Amino acid sequence: MTNKPIAPRGRLFFANPGPTNIPDSILLATAHATIDSNDPRFVPVYEECVAGLKSILRTTGHVFFYTGSGHSAWEASLVNLFSPGDRLLVVETGHFSEDWSQMATDLGLQVTTVAADWRRGCDPDAVRAALEADHAHEIRAVCAVHNETSTGMTLPVERIRAAMDAARHPALLLADTISSLGSIDFRMDDWRIDVAVGGSQKGLMMPTGLGFTGVSARALEAHGRARLPRHYFDWSRMLKRPMRSFVGTAPTPMFYGMKESLRLIGEEGLDAVFARHARLARAVRAAVRQWSGNSGPQLFCLDPARLSDSVTAVLMPEGHDAERLRAATLGRFNVSLGGGLARLAGRVFRIGHLGDLNEPMVLGTLASVEMAMKLEGIPHAPGGVDAAMAELVASA
Ligand SMILES: *Cc1c(COP(=O)(O)O)cnc(C)c1O
Repeated sequence: MTNKPIAPRGRLFFANPGPTNIPDSILLATAHATIDSNDPRFVPVYEECVAGLKSILRTTGHVFFYTGSGHSAWEASLVNLFSPGDRLLVVETGHFSEDWSQMATDLGLQVTTVAADWRRGCDPDAVRAALEADHAHEIRAVCAVHNETSTGMTLPVERIRAAMDAARHPALLLADTISSLGSIDFRMDDWRIDVAVGGSQKGLMMPTGLGFTGVSARALEAHGRARLPRHYFDWSRMLKRPMRSFVGTAPTPMFYGMKESLRLIGEEGLDAVFARHARLARAVRAAVRQWSGNSGPQLFCLDPARLSDSVTAVLMPEGHDAERLRAATLGRFNVSLGGGLARLAGRVFRIGHLGDLNEPMVLGTLASVEMAMKLEGIPHAPGGVDAAMAELVASA
């Protein structure tokens, strides 16, 4: 079946797991006239954003910002902490742990991977064993992706921290919270995370283009010894600037947007935000579990305790192309789904359920996927939307 471009009527249902839907009030807030970042009218806006972001990261550490997507915050975390040839231990979770590893390798670091099945994620004991084997304490840091957006798995980062403690290893802990912050419980200080890596366009419901890192006192100390070349991302350079961040011009409109994002999250309450994400995630999973009958698509993540509350990756039945299904939902129903990344291309599609989202938005997406499966002749058991509604009614 061909999917002719549709007349763009009705709302684009955006169900990618990042970027995410931007609430109108945030869109409007970012439409702010140019202002000097030292202007006394802007400074309090910035300070409010820094304080609010720290409370969401649950840290008293320092926050640095970068004009860039999440990748900029990844790069900043590496160039500010390490020296050429330093060893890192990366916990394999999926495409994003591989990508972060590749970046570290390209920057001249030595990466050892704690290998794991992408459908289950690693056993923290394997992290402990890898650290215990490092008698000389050459490993400088453990890098872990809290929520692996390519597979729909949440890694229990607190158990990675416990494994590091059990091994009595002094490595720093770097955690990517790009697709968990503001959607899934994340506790930088409680879990003694040294650098938390975040971005604006997922749980914070903002436009893409603002990266940030929460940084512990221990990480700032390690920064003092780090010799990788850096300039735009250099924390020392930033600390000398009035905003204690940004080497270049600060993107002031983003902070008007962030102020509104933090207001929305505060108004709903962080715990209620997490509960909403968990409820909507259960509805999506109920639909997928129903569809999996008749040799239909299945949840990619096989560990029920690690299923992500911000994104669900769905594995297509053998011989059926996820890209054809995505083209059908977009072309016929104006519903945008996430595709499979790296080795999962064509095999997986992803439903993002994070950010500014409610029940009818989720049900609309699920109904469109179910219709597209019927139209494309993809095997499945019908009734996924009913299963999702039942789940939502049960937890209303
Ligand atoms: C989206 C994402 C990234 C990359 O962020 P960009 O903003 O696309 O650069 C990194 N890690 C995870 C877990 C993500 O979900």
